[in-house]
Amino acid sequence: MDTEQKLNILTDSSKYDLACACKTGDQPGRVRGDAGRWIYPAVLPSGRKVFLLKTLQSNDCVNDCSYCPFNSRKDVARCTLEPAQLASVFMQLREAGRVDGLFLSSGVCGNADQTMAKMLATVELLRKRHLFRGFIHMKVIPGASDEAVNQAVQQATRVSVNIESPNAKRLGKLTSRKRFHEDIISTMQSINRARKAYNRKCSQTTQFVVGAAGESDREIVLSTERLYSKIDIERVYFSAYQDFENPPEPSQKMLFEGMTDKSGGPADNIFVREHRLYQVDFLLRKYNFSKEDILYDTGGNLSLRKDPKQVWADHHPELFPLDVNRASKEELLRVPGIGPISVNRIIKGRKQEKIQWLDDLKRLGVRTSQGRDYLTLKR
Ligand code: SF4
Repeated sequence: MDTEQKLNILTDSSKYDLACACKTGDQPGRVRGDAGRWIYPAVLPSGRKVFLLKTLQSNDCVNDCSYCPFNSRKDVARCTLEPAQLASVFMQLREAGRVDGLFLSSGVCGNADQTMAKMLATVELLRKRHLFRGFIHMKVIPGASDEAVNQAVQQATRVSVNIESPNAKRLGKLTSRKRFHEDIISTMQSINRARKAYNRKCSQTTQFVVGAAGESDREIVLSTERLYSKIDIERVYFSAYQDFENPPEPSQKMLFEGMTDKSGGPADNIFVREHRLYQVDFLLRKYNFSKEDILYDTGGNLSLRKDPKQVWADHHPELFPLDVNRASKEELLRVPGIGPISVNRIIKGRKQEKIQWLDDLKRLGVRTSQGRDYLTLKR
């Protein structure tokens, strides 16, 4: 197999890790870049839009994760890119101006450290021989030794270990080989130690596979909150479980089906569920919501029809409508459809002139389609 054939297999395998984070601000999630099959758009923490070569080092794997299309029980074409092959093809794409960075993951070939050795050799070639200084996201294999983790943190811009499930019981439904605390949580902790010791600029993220283990949204949200508060994870991502035996072709329509549907029909759609979890994640990180502010149905799941902020607001009629000219910043942030940028515009605008009409808000650049029922304009 030549490098291109291997790359076709390995980048195709990596698409199952595709989450909404693989997007730019003006595109729906779950798209591949126009630039080519192997290249995905992404937004860096700085907000800069970039294109990443997203590939596996190898799709060979000794593990048996049931949600994974190339677990050890699957009869699929297997291959491994040698570090020099992968580094070279990356640099060719880079020099052609087609990629800005690398997203590197891998199946587990042999054991965690044997796999990490190949990935680290690739990254080291890029950094030391090719002098590539740009973005590298490296997945760390659960159970990797402290030494391998230390090297990853020193070389990469971002590292991550996929948490996959909210707790040991749920993970046990998906795999007989990966252990929740011993392999996943302890590797996250050793990444944190390495960040403190060697490279604080290297961020740590993680990802859930949503809907594979029968877990509820409440379990995922509580686990997410713990990851932020106890392990100093920078971002948590959510990837809807896809039936790889019978994969749907994701589209914007599927992603947003039901969300614009005002007729009230339930939108039983795994991608909407994934989107709701991202909304909760934003409420926790950017809107001062606590885990107690997130409301669920009797099954412990988020509403598919209403966004979680609107669910909270409708649960607190005593707090609304808010006087747009007097409400505090914290209160305004609780209005459905109003984000931090709009809140700042309202506060700045009302200092200059009393806000009297909805058109005043529109002139300030504040969208009111969702929030108008929760605001009052006292003239
Ligand atoms: S360890 Fe990773 S590559 Fe291996 S079966 Fe599990 S998810 Fe797939």
